[in-house]
Amino acid sequence: MRVGLAALVLAAIASGCAQGGAGDEVTPAGGQQPLDAPPARALDSYASRLGAAHAARVAAAHRWGLAQAPLSAPPPPARKPRIRTREGFEVTGHRRLNLPPVFTTVPTRDKVVFLTIDDGAEKDPAFLRMMSDLDVPYTAFLSGYLVKDDPRYFRRMQARGVALNNHTLHHPRLPSLSYRQQKREICGMQRYLAKRFGTRPALFRPSYGSYDRTTLRAAKACGIAYVPLWNQEVFPDRWEYREGDRRLRPGDIVLTHFRGREQWKGSMADMIRRFLNEVRSEGFAVGRLEDYL
Ligand SMILES: [Zn+2]
Repeated sequence: MRVGLAALVLAAIASGCAQGGAGDEVTPAGGQQPLDAPPARALDSYASRLGAAHAARVAAAHRWGLAQAPLSAPPPPARKPRIRTREGFEVTGHRRLNLPPVFTTVPTRDKVVFLTIDDGAEKDPAFLRMMSDLDVPYTAFLSGYLVKDDPRYFRRMQARGVALNNHTLHHPRLPSLSYRQQKREICGMQRYLAKRFGTRPALFRPSYGSYDRTTLRAAKACGIAYVPLWNQEVFPDRWEYREGDRRLRPGDIVLTHFRGREQWKGSMADMIRRFLNEVRSEGFAVGRLEDYL
């Protein structure tokens, strides 16, 4: 039955692409309904909803100047992958102290990458519209001092389903600070996020991606379970890779920033266009990081 349904859905999507809506192609060829088939009308409306959603994505992609519509992400994994610290990223006693894992790629075979956006300086309303319109998930890592002048912008983001995570209060170089100072930066941001946004995230990204054993001990004490770094970074005018082969890998975490023309050669929309065009051309979809953790 699952195979039958998948085939019908594919047919609906194909027709949605061509005509902007699923037509009567959803009836299986030959007219023979298998005995356990659900009522044709129910399937028909399910398929046309999918077809309509796809048509909306195609139209949105066109509106925002993308080369192609982004691929839909596969369903979230039924079993969450086991996240381990990337080799070479461990601190002394990492396992023994059960410190949060530090990783740059999520172990998965799904052809997905994850978009993470840091800091919070630029508050571009067009960016919020673009991401909702395109229905592309992303994860924010916010630094308190950049959020404080306009938390409403990030509340709008949160209302659109984006998880707001911890990126310290003041964006310091953490390894130069004492345990108490590091804890103040991390726990202080947890308290700020709880007070302003009603969230106590389990995800923390150290400013500059720079951390030591003290950072991870402090993060753990503040309720942090994961420390995602990144394997690539995208800008409006270029793409930087951690690996030499300059390719996307399934589960790669991609970093970018809330920045605009003052700091960049382009807008946030330009950066997203570059990101989505590259991801699509390598046959990847954008997944939701939280679904895999
Ligand atoms: Zn940062």
